[in-house]
Amino acid sequence: MMTLPQKELISAERLQERVAELAREISDDLEGIDLLTVVCVLKGAFIFTADLVRHLTLPCRIEFIRASSYGEGRTSSGKVKLEHHETIELEGKHVLLVEDILDTGRTLSRIVAELEQQRPASMRVCALLDKPSRRSVLFEANYTGFTIPDHFVVGYGLDADERYRELPFIAIENR
Ligand code: 5GP
Ligand code: MG
Ligand code: MG
Repeated sequence: MMTLPQKELISAERLQERVAELAREISDDLEGIDLLTVVCVLKGAFIFTADLVRHLTLPCRIEFIRASSYGEGRTSSGKVKLEHHETIELEGKHVLLVEDILDTGRTLSRIVAELEQQRPASMRVCALLDKPSRRSVLFEANYTGFTIPDHFVVGYGLDADERYRELPFIAIENR
């Protein structure tokens, strides 16, 4: 058997159950809107977004932006680099921003501030994971999949130096 350099924190089954639940909650809350613009924050949220949108019962448009702050380390540099956000038209649109993990809160507060300059009709944030103990700026997501303790996690889209994104579960990195 292959031994993985990580310890499982959230199984593939629990992820799938919770993602379907989140999609139901979002679909209920936004019922009746003509179009939802889903903005996936690359790279970490690519798998979560792909699973989430397949459970939404709303007409969707899917867009991608890129945010990078970590570089190759394990702690946020504090500087958030955004790409592709200017090319998406959000004025008057209902927006759902989908992110992998809310940690210090710097990335999401920066992204929300940028996107709000385009005056969307509404903006909601959905984060798969939340590490509230690490927050350094005031920020809460409208929808959160799982609240987790302060561990560096990988899998289901999340990486450590670009590795482990393909794992179907969330794991704590053993280092
Ligand atoms: P924040 O700006 O909230 O501190 O950090 C958010 C970003 O840092 C996330 O989008 C993610 O890219 C990265 N990040 C924060 N915590 C973790 C973690 O435990 N594992 C991984 N792989 N990335 C993390
Ligand atoms: Mg991210
Ligand atoms: Mg990363």
